[in-house]
Amino acid sequence: MNQVKNTNRLRFARIVIFMLSMIFLPLLTQGQSFDITSFQRQFIAQFAGDRPIEGTINVLKQRSTSVERKIAENFLCSTLNSIGLPSNRHEYKMPNSFFLLDLFFSPMQGTNVYTIIPATEPTEEYVVIGAHYDSEPGSPGAGDNASGVALTLAVAKQISELTVRKKKFVIVFFDQEEDDELGSKAFAKKLKDSGMNIHSVHITDIIGWDANQDLGVELQSISSRLAPLYQQAADDLNIPLKLSQGGSSDNKSFLNAGFETVGVFSDEMTPHIHKPSDQCETVDFGYLASSTALIFNVLKALAQQ
Ligand SMILES: [Zn+2]
Repeated sequence: MNQVKNTNRLRFARIVIFMLSMIFLPLLTQGQSFDITSFQRQFIAQFAGDRPIEGTINVLKQRSTSVERKIAENFLCSTLNSIGLPSNRHEYKMPNSFFLLDLFFSPMQGTNVYTIIPATEPTEEYVVIGAHYDSEPGSPGAGDNASGVALTLAVAKQISELTVRKKKFVIVFFDQEEDDELGSKAFAKKLKDSGMNIHSVHITDIIGWDANQDLGVELQSISSRLAPLYQQAADDLNIPLKLSQGGSSDNKSFLNAGFETVGVFSDEMTPHIHKPSDQCETVDFGYLASSTALIFNVLKALAQQ
């Protein structure tokens, strides 16, 4: 009889524990934030040839031929979807660099991948953040530029979780930066032609290298309106900034099209650029997380303006 009672008590206790866990477990896990570094590690390992892309046997040793760039494009779309964002493709055709070549060869073509994060209140103002996803032939392009893509994806995820966004955000991954910045040129033209009200364009490239461990970031051709925002975010994160002029990446396409644009790069040049050694193991993930926080803090400030 006692045994029956004990069994019933045990059963009752189990039911109570189960019900309590159903109530409190979701509360406990709710506050858990998105683990940026494990997300970026996993993404770069798959995007830059360390591990096969899920569900396929494809190991992307480079993102250079049209077939490889198509695999990268599809993987980017599914990664955007996995972090809760829709994906769009912008297919473009651009003339060859020398116009007479167009008579003999087909024009260059490629696909940019983008998503638009809506504002939480009525506005027609957009902030653009972008990074190129192609790589130089023969290079896995972990630093150049899976690092910038991983930064942009993590920033996109965090922007989408903000409760207040007074601007819309265009998140874009450019094709063919290594081919005369064709993808970003085509996208800048698309934005220009659309007449969209673009607040500013933020471009990242090669942002995974920090040999002197100072977390330093180079800002290229930053406008006087954006400079104080970056300075504030950098001060908060103890990041030294180095200012430079010109356009050495996709930022050139947007500067030439007349957009307020900043290029955000590592302030030290990686020795692995465009080489077979530009592999996942050379990416400094602590530095990438720090740079991700810098851009996110700037964009969060813009979202509140
Ligand atoms: Zn690059």
